[in-house]
Amino acid sequence: MSNKDNLVIIGAGLAGPLMATYLSNLGYNVDIYERRPDMRYIDQSAGRSINLALSKRGIRALRDIGLYEKIKSKLIPMKGRMIHNIDGSTQLQKYGQKTNEVIYSISRAFLNISLMEYCENNGNVRIHCEHELEYIDMNEQKLIFTNHKSVKFNRVLGSDGSSSIIRQTIDKLCSINFQKKPLLHGYKELSIPSTNNGDFKLEPNALHIWPRGKFMLIALPNMDGSFTSTLFLPMDGEISFSSIKTKKQILDFFQENFPDALDLFTDIIETYQNNPIGTLSTVYCDKWHYKDKLLIFGDAAHAIVPFFGQGMNASFQDCTVINSLINKFNGDWGKIFPEFSTIHIANGHAIANMALENYIEMRDLVNNPDYKTKRNLELQLENKFRNRFIPRYSMVSFHTIPYAE
Ligand code: FAD
Repeated sequence: MSNKDNLVIIGAGLAGPLMATYLSNLGYNVDIYERRPDMRYIDQSAGRSINLALSKRGIRALRDIGLYEKIKSKLIPMKGRMIHNIDGSTQLQKYGQKTNEVIYSISRAFLNISLMEYCENNGNVRIHCEHELEYIDMNEQKLIFTNHKSVKFNRVLGSDGSSSIIRQTIDKLCSINFQKKPLLHGYKELSIPSTNNGDFKLEPNALHIWPRGKFMLIALPNMDGSFTSTLFLPMDGEISFSSIKTKKQILDFFQENFPDALDLFTDIIETYQNNPIGTLSTVYCDKWHYKDKLLIFGDAAHAIVPFFGQGMNASFQDCTVINSLINKFNGDWGKIFPEFSTIHIANGHAIANMALENYIEMRDLVNNPDYKTKRNLELQLENKFRNRFIPRYSMVSFHTIPYAE
């Protein structure tokens, strides 16, 4: 492959800098254009969630590029779901049976900044912040930015998130059967501070869930002893973000549904009223490339709802797959782009659907006797047929088996 090939990536979120590092390690020069100010120097909310669950697929990619060892001291292992019942009782449902079958809580901002620093320090990568792509002039092969700058390109890899301009451009050039399906539930982040001594108020090595049937509250631990808690609730209806607004409604709602959690928050009413409501959707499309010119990966190709903790992990796995295809086809982009589309789209659709199913599991089924029996059976089968049976949660979180399989 030519080491003079210049590549452009749009988006310096989680997947863009990781892909840039893989590419730089293969000898490519990479320019990343990002619409936001540089988060390494300007403190800003990282966007959609304060912390994330990192699991096997993501870890493999971070190991591949050599970053995992440098960040692993900042990971908090979560061995299972801690279920908080309405009567205040709790129960730990383990994710796996082996000691290494845990997922990890990590700060989104820390990981994003580490990836940006690492890709620029390690190779031929330059990140240009405050460059929001406005449109692509395919005839001239030019990227036009909202700051009126323009850049010539050979080919572009788009990791510009769920509202991707690269995906819109591919859709205009060749129909990709694009669909964005909104979830009719939104989310609001709340914070559970540490105790005055800096200790965790809840078990730190668990992902906490308050399942309440049609909605739920969750909490993931942070390194400073706090938890980031997220309330998932229908947007409209009897119990929803549109019906819970006033001080009294908020207090009544928490007292009725999360009485034990109420003591963990400080200023719950102010936080609830001030923090924005996030929306969630699933992106489906049948093609992720245009010739050897444009390719999408990460959320741009397959934004999913967050209930399997796999959006970032799937996006990192995309980078691993693209890297292996570059090696397989010796840098022939005319083969790499279509092959990525062809082999990987089924996996994108599979994890999108599993993530939707997992919302029902988390908010409702975890306390259902049939679910518990089934889960117990899965674990027994895994013990009895060690090389022949793996529970689905483990296949997704502790293995790199393609999602569609
Ligand atoms: P992003 O991280 O969204 O990055 C896209 C980047 O492109 C952004 O920096 C954006 O500013 C930039 N951009 C967009 N448009 C333009 C433009 N026109 N020009 C230039 N730049 C542009 N995943 C997990 O694996 N585990 C979890 O626990 C988890 N929890 C989540 C919780 C919530 C509430 C949400 C919403 C998501 C969660 N995810 C989780 C999913 C995860 O956040 C995404 O899958 C991941 O961020 C995708 O990475 P990306 O780089 O493709 O997109």
